Parts: sequence; C-alpha cells; structure tokens
Amino acid sequence: MTDLYQRESRCIAKLAQLRFFPQAVVGGKGACLTADDGRQLLDFSASWGAASLGYAHPAIREAVHQALTDQAGASYLSSANAPCLLLAEKLLALVPPRARGRVWFGHSGSDANETVARVVVAATGRMHILAFEGAYHGGTVGSMGISGHPAQSGSRADNLHLMPWPTGDGSNTLDHLKTLFRSIKPKQVAACFIEPIQSDGGMHLPPAGFFLQLQAICRQHGILLVCDEVKVGLGRTGLWHAFEHFDLEPDILVFGKGLGGGLPISAVVGPAHIMNHASHFAMQTLHGNPVCAAAALAVLQYIEGQQLIENARTVGTFLQQQLNQLAKTEPLIGQVRGRGLAIGIELNDEDGKQAALAVYHAFELGLVLYYVGENSNVLELTPPLNLTEGEAAQGINLLKQALADVRAKRVDESLLKDFAGW
Ligand SMILES: *Cc1c(COP(=O)(O)O)cnc(C)c1O
Repeated sequence: MTDLYQRESRCIAKLAQLRFFPQAVVGGKGACLTADDGRQLLDFSASWGAASLGYAHPAIREAVHQALTDQAGASYLSSANAPCLLLAEKLLALVPPRARGRVWFGHSGSDANETVARVVVAATGRMHILAFEGAYHGGTVGSMGISGHPAQSGSRADNLHLMPWPTGDGSNTLDHLKTLFRSIKPKQVAACFIEPIQSDGGMHLPPAGFFLQLQAICRQHGILLVCDEVKVGLGRTGLWHAFEHFDLEPDILVFGKGLGGGLPISAVVGPAHIMNHASHFAMQTLHGNPVCAAAALAVLQYIEGQQLIENARTVGTFLQQQLNQLAKTEPLIGQVRGRGLAIGIELNDEDGKQAALAVYHAFELGLVLYYVGENSNVLELTPPLNLTEGEAAQGINLLKQALADVRAKRVDESLLKDFAGW
C-alpha cells in the first residue's frame, strides 16, 4: 500500500466518508478497481451502483469526449442544449404514460428527491408527505427530511409521516395508514414516496400485491405515488424499472446513481402540471450539464443496445442460485433476496460485527462490497450491469472464503477500530 489512505486523512474531511476498510484506488476498468498497491479488486458494489457500465467504459468516454470537444454550455438553466433534450426524450419514452410529462435534471438522488418533496407540496397545495421507515431518499436537508433511515443524523420534515415497512401480508402498514388518516386528512397528503425495493434499509422486497394496494389508496385520495428508482432502477433488477416487478404505475419517477454511469446526474420524470409548476423553483448552476447528460444518454443507449437488462437478469439469477447454494453450507448466511443485480445477503449477525468483518476480509481477499440495513447486517451486491458470469463466480468464491474465515474467527476484530461503517 502507498500512503494514499493515510495522507487523505490529513487533508480530506470525514463528513462525506462512509468507510468499511482502507480502500485507496488509483484506477479501474470494467468491474475491477486497481488498488494503490497494484491489486485488482473485483467491485460488487460499483460505487453503490453508480458505475452501471463498470469503470472507464469506452461508450461513456466517447460521449464525454464529444460533449467536451464542442461544449454546449455548462448548464440548462439559461439555455437549451442537445444532450439534455435527447436524454429527456429518451427518459420520457421509457416511462409509463402516467408519468410521461416533463423531465427535470439534477446532480444526485438527493437533490432530485428534495425537488420532488418541495414541488408536490407547492403544486398541489397539500402539505403532508408519506414515506417508509428505513427509506433512504438522500443526504441533503430536504431529502433527509423525507427519509426514514436510522443511520441519518438529520431531522425529519414536520410534514413527513413514516409508515412501517410491510411485513407478512402488509396489514401492519395498511392499519398504520388507516389510523394516520384519522389524525390527518388523506386529501391533505401530496405524495407517497416508495423505494420499490428498499435497498439501504436492507434490500427488502415488499409482500406480493402490497404496493398495488398502496397505489389504490393513493389514487383514491389523489395522492401522487413517487417511485425512487435511484439505486435499483434503469435495468439493474432485470427490467427497466424496479416498479415493473410489482405492476405499478407511479406518477413521478426519480433516477440517479447508475444514470450517469459514474458521472453526477439525476432526473425526475412526472406529469407536466407538477413539473411545470413554476420556473426558477429548483435550480443549481450546473444542473443540466451537457457533459453529464451526454454520458447518461450513452449509458441508456448502451444498456438497450447491448441487452444489459437481460444480462442483469441472467447473471443476477446465477448469483442468487450460487448464494442460495452457499447458504446451505454457510451458517452465517440467513437470507438471500433481491431481483437481478440488486441482491442483499442478510447475515445471522448476533453481535452486529459479522457483516463488518466479512466486508473487511472480502476486501483483503480482493472483493469489494459494503453492507446496508437498519441493523447493518445485509451485504449488498450492486455490481455493474455488464458483469459476466465468470466474474460473478469469481466473486462468489472470494465471498465464500471471507465468510468461512469470519465464522472460524480467523479475522481480527480490532481491524474494525477505524471502520464504523453505518
Ligand atoms: C443513493 C440513494 C439516494 C441518494 O442519491 P445520492 O446520489 O447519494 O444523492 C436516493 N434514493 C435512493 C434509493 C438511493 O439509494
């Protein structure tokens, strides 16, 4: 190892850091990162799903190169530009009719969700917002305000009402809602935010039919259904949209992370009467940057042209099969769940340290993955959509070794001293 990791701590603030092991990288290609000691690390996180085509993808490089060679400004605030227009047209073609209105571009899932939270209230005149306990909608004041993830230190918005995540047949959530609607009027609720698969909360899938029931309640009261597809959308689950697994037709869609393939861009797609509510309502100087938009357009075209959605489905199925096989002999594994290349491995983690030790040791062995979950005990797999079956098998072998070593107490707990994770 070079001293990159140590030097970093002397000049870079901890505020944005979420560290699980002393990872310092100097490059990357495809599904692999190059560590500063020259090791190749197979990255099953893809930087939390952002590197949807892996690292240094030629299609993205070419699009960025072109956009920078004759640069159509740096923003869409005060001028139109072609990459944003083409990307908006593409996104509109990808969403169901109900949401097919106008597109807003931002930098991150956070600014996108924050914008939605503000505009639905302003445009409908309704004040309340519904979301789920465990939900992660972002890390800015406005997006944290409508989240329910316990790792966040920011406060919730006054108009937010958190519902318990559905268990069993989901009647716990529906009963909660019924009770809530005695104290607030459903006609005063502007929107209900959902993650179709709650990823940072622990890669939870909803009970069958639950979201359809929730959608029906929303429709009945004119509540907008906002679907946060930031982590699990755009092909990752084996369909273009994660909500399609549950036959939903949301009113508003939020995209981020993998949309830019590693560059910062997010998008909100929704009906014109909401999205055209007012001008200069939600803007940041570099919103609609043509370079990031060009990268995103290249990502979507590549996903479509190279059948990456099918790849996510088949390689994801292969991964889940292998993991379920491993679960038979590895008692640390509790449950494997997910869709396509959005997979969670819940560990039997009594002391809350096994997941932390497992990801640390996997890193030592050459595999990068992180953990999520309200109890910090779910290993999360969100690899690039073009992961091959060979890479998947290689990663499973490394994970198998890591779990076996953790179970046999061959991994020193003192390694975790500087790595609290979340
Ligand atoms: C990561 C994430 C966000 C926030 O996106 P950022 O790009 O980190 O701002 C919002 N929603 C979901 C579901 C996410 O996973």
